[in-house]
Amino acid sequence: MNQTTASTCCYCGVGCGVLIEHDGEQILGVSGDPSHPANFGKLCSKGSTLHLTGDLDARGLYPELRLGKALARARTDWDNALDHAATVFAETIREHGPDSVAFYISGQLLTEDYYAFNKLARALVGTNNIDSNSRLCMSSAVVGYKRSLGADAPPCNYEDIEQSDCLLIVGSNMAYAHPVLFRRLEEARARRPDMRVIVVDPRRTDTCELADLHLAILPGTDVALFHGILHLLLWEGWIDRGFIDAHTEGFDAVKQLVRDYTPGIVADTCGISVESLQACAEMIGKAPSFLSLWCMGLNQSSSGSAKNSALINLHLATGQIGRAGAGPFSLTGQPNAMGGRETGSLSNLLPGHREAANAEHREEVAGYWGVDGLPANTGLTAVELFDAVRTGQIKALWIACTNPAQSLPDQNKVHQALAACPFVVVQEAFFTTETCAYADLLLPAASWGEKEGTVTNSERRVSHVRRAVPAPAEARADWAITSDFARRLEQRLRPGQPSLFGFANAEALFEEYKGLTRERDLDLSGLSYALLDQQGPQQWPFPQGAAQGTSRLYGDGQFPTASGRAQFLAEIYRAPQEKRDARYPLTLNTGRLRDQWHGMSRTGTSARAFGHVEEAVLSLHPDEMRRRRLLAGELVKVRSRRGSLIVPVQADDSVRSGQAYLPMHWGNRFLKGLGSNVLTQPAFDPLSKQPELKQAGVEVDKVELPWQFYALVEGDVQQRLSALRPLFETFAYASLSLTGRERPALQIRAASAVAPDAALLAQIDGLLGLDEGPVLAYDDPRRTVGKRVRIEDGRITALRLAGETAARDWLKGLWSEGKADAELRRWLLAPLSTPPGNSAKASGKTLCNCLNVSESAVCAGISRGLDLDGLKQELKCGTSCGSCVPEIKRLLATNPVTVSA
Ligand code: SF4
Repeated sequence: MNQTTASTCCYCGVGCGVLIEHDGEQILGVSGDPSHPANFGKLCSKGSTLHLTGDLDARGLYPELRLGKALARARTDWDNALDHAATVFAETIREHGPDSVAFYISGQLLTEDYYAFNKLARALVGTNNIDSNSRLCMSSAVVGYKRSLGADAPPCNYEDIEQSDCLLIVGSNMAYAHPVLFRRLEEARARRPDMRVIVVDPRRTDTCELADLHLAILPGTDVALFHGILHLLLWEGWIDRGFIDAHTEGFDAVKQLVRDYTPGIVADTCGISVESLQACAEMIGKAPSFLSLWCMGLNQSSSGSAKNSALINLHLATGQIGRAGAGPFSLTGQPNAMGGRETGSLSNLLPGHREAANAEHREEVAGYWGVDGLPANTGLTAVELFDAVRTGQIKALWIACTNPAQSLPDQNKVHQALAACPFVVVQEAFFTTETCAYADLLLPAASWGEKEGTVTNSERRVSHVRRAVPAPAEARADWAITSDFARRLEQRLRPGQPSLFGFANAEALFEEYKGLTRERDLDLSGLSYALLDQQGPQQWPFPQGAAQGTSRLYGDGQFPTASGRAQFLAEIYRAPQEKRDARYPLTLNTGRLRDQWHGMSRTGTSARAFGHVEEAVLSLHPDEMRRRRLLAGELVKVRSRRGSLIVPVQADDSVRSGQAYLPMHWGNRFLKGLGSNVLTQPAFDPLSKQPELKQAGVEVDKVELPWQFYALVEGDVQQRLSALRPLFETFAYASLSLTGRERPALQIRAASAVAPDAALLAQIDGLLGLDEGPVLAYDDPRRTVGKRVRIEDGRITALRLAGETAARDWLKGLWSEGKADAELRRWLLAPLSTPPGNSAKASGKTLCNCLNVSESAVCAGISRGLDLDGLKQELKCGTSCGSCVPEIKRLLATNPVTVSA
């Protein structure tokens, strides 16, 4: 019988409540939880397709071990796997010391998983070498909050977004990255048309569709912009002197500093007009309430900490904090990045918002855990950690629930590090990630819907995540794997002593952990699983005895700093590390797609997630395209100081001249060449140690790869992808993606200077199922052209075009429509770029993924004179999750309407 279990979405930090429909064995569907205060039943295109992800062919089912780098991994059992890991870790620690091992964990983990890892690293192993992928995501915001306000505590809640009079959205394509919050903002804006929205972003993203003002600043110039705004606020007297005097420190130094940031200088530095700067300052200065939202555009920067503090300066100067609709509000990128920060999952932190460098804090935590002391050595942060792996300082590395071989900057070095590390353990739900290839020990972890615990979302709200179905085969919950390993390591490192890891279930971890938050700013001591079940998700602090959570912080003007006052920070603007120069004249920005998530470990298992954007494409402004004599769809080599990548290019006027844009999601599994981050740079902020993933100097050159290849095959997509991907290493360009809805297919596009060996093509044909059976074939060896089309039950099920691919789009359209009638069949192998008699449509981009509405259908509707309501009514696009609405609005604004007389 079907049941429903309440849980949360496992993607972004909005933390939407999800109802999982299942039969006790399998997840059958999802819907938004109407009672969850983050989303009130809404889900975006990612959340609403969660049940379509997690193809078992991509999942880890059993532990796998290899005893030598040259050997293949083989299936083993849990006892053998964890005993082996414990022996290697114990020997390494004995021989080289505790800092010769490291843990690299994830913002996707649940709070209980994080806690187990922290206790393992700090209390048992005795190292602070434990960092998380949140270092790439939120660590600049952590430093910003701590330095300016005294604690890593976002002061606002989601209702503030709806109640604010003026929103400043900086470095966040909220429409793609936090869609449900963006929906809430859109609706609030429709109810309150006087609300003002300012978007600061070098690109004109879909988020700008809601903006009264878009400041397309030059990449990385945010500090200059914020100082320029403060200069104008001071000049016009739009500040709150009473608040400044009563509740802050350091104002005079900032006032002195921003004197130099005159409108002319700032407009010049930021590449915007003086008028737009003044308009921005006026909107902020005159607003009864002012809220700022930000994400990676501020954080992923070599001056990320300064950017955060300069933004918070604006709130302190205007007294816009601690009340409805006001305050600085960071949007977290991952579902439980907040939980990681709370449990101490960055190397410099300890549980309960404590500092690893603080002796008193170490003593408190050591006492609570019943160990003699905690390590005082500075732990390594993400980029430093992988450098230390590469140079041999780290000899045993445990990676959990993250994919550094895709997500870290400067991928060439990361891959070198993983290849060189003597012992790599990867604890992972998806065994298809790039990092898994380097695992000596691969441990199958439970995934979304399969484990219990808690998460904290961007507004400090803790939700109880419930298990709906059992994990497949031998996969186990992350906390259980970690605790089991820790018990085995204890026997080797501190034999005879009572275990620190006798946790029977996730709840036991939560109960122990919450004691470490007692009387801290994030006090969770009043929470329990039972309370969360009875009263629903709650915002911290929630001290023991509290009746409800705390919706907003600092309403009394008291801040958790030594003086009780918030701190103005006076730091000058520093340009990004890589300036444009003659060799690298473009600044590369990276960001998110609407329907993909991070390194595609999960979304890469859903064909539907590729419907909106199916391959990695570099965006350049049309002027740059003209200057470089590039045409849309041509292949280019993008080069940075660290590596290069071949991708198609497209004209995109949302990107300014002198800049380039590439989505962040692509790794080596889907794109030859180690993915987007082969180009990005590892330079990091001196305080937050967050790398500058958003600004790398690059150059773009056209490449001539005349021998083209295209293939499509339906069925067993993950198995085929894994088997076929290595065969494309010899091609200069290769892009693999999924396509289709009800009949998922693998799609491959490749190119090279000359044709590959016939033997390689034959091998590829074998894996595509084109070597036998009902296959139409054409070969012209002289021109190195060869084609295959497999037809079963009257429709195409696989095709391969080599050497000449003109018919690619309409053949794909035929496959998609399930047609290949006898009349058409004689044309299938012809070099035609359009089908005979227009008998098939090229299948294009899917704009509305929920209702399967294509971009071309929307454009046709617009040309018939339909407006947004008309399109919704006629095509149904935008009527489900609403994620496509900003893009439809953009098409409405840019496409001419031709209404016939
Ligand atoms: Fe998931 Fe979308 Fe909600 Fe983020 S906004 S938590 S991705 S449903």
